[in-house]
Amino acid sequence: MIFNVFTLFPEAVEAMTKYSVLQRGIDSGLIEIRTINIRDYANNKHKQVDDYPYGGGAGMVMMPDPIISAVEASDTKTKELIFMSPKGKVLTQKMANELSMKEEINILCGHYEGVDQRVVDSLVTDEISIGDYVLTGGEIAAAVLIDSVARLVSGVLGSDESVIDESHQNGWLEYPQYTRPSEYRGMKVPDVLLSGHHKNIETWRKEQSIRETILKRPDLVQVNLLSDDERKIVEKLTDGPLTKLWTSLKGGI
Ligand code: SAH
Repeated sequence: MIFNVFTLFPEAVEAMTKYSVLQRGIDSGLIEIRTINIRDYANNKHKQVDDYPYGGGAGMVMMPDPIISAVEASDTKTKELIFMSPKGKVLTQKMANELSMKEEINILCGHYEGVDQRVVDSLVTDEISIGDYVLTGGEIAAAVLIDSVARLVSGVLGSDESVIDESHQNGWLEYPQYTRPSEYRGMKVPDVLLSGHHKNIETWRKEQSIRETILKRPDLVQVNLLSDDERKIVEKLTDGPLTKLWTSLKGGI
């Protein structure tokens, strides 16, 4: 899978994506992250890429020509172009899953006050935000998008199973994880995890996943979509705050 990132700061995108798990994915040829420096396509003496906004106001706006020339000069197979933007659809695990099926993804990073609207109108096919707040540039957002998508590309994480149980992947947050030692400063790993009893471990993990989600992100619980097994587990979890939350969630449908 190829990511083509159009940016004024290629070094920022590379620093945030070319290390650890993603670097291994690059080394094994599963993913490729290419950066295209928009400034290289500035067709003027001073390599200027931004200018004052028409109509006045604070900050600088990225000029259309360097961006459009950079995109036109690239030999990307797909014409789709994702613009990282606070106005976009907020990135979710579902979107990351869908994007991980593509062969190539083109990403445009704005900077300063953003980009000339004519770029968005003529080239951009999707706008994606990483949350309802404003960053100084799209580079961090692009790195977030690349990271969330690239780790879903088969083989990048080493084991495809690792993504199945994860938070946001199957509708529930992940159960608590432990590693050695089994006792640390008086805190013990739950017995069931040391038991080697796979069925009990699976049940415990499912209960914990449901518990975590109801307590920490009740907004994610889709009561009407619970399976019979899940419903039974929830009804069994009857400690104080959880019962209250569950009752109010149930009341919501
Ligand atoms: N003036 C713009 C914000 C510009 S921020 C507005 O009010 O909408 C500069 C650039 O940072 C944007 O062009 C975009 O590429 C990036 N950016 C800022 N916040 C972002 C977010 N939440 N998600 C994705 N990209 C973002």
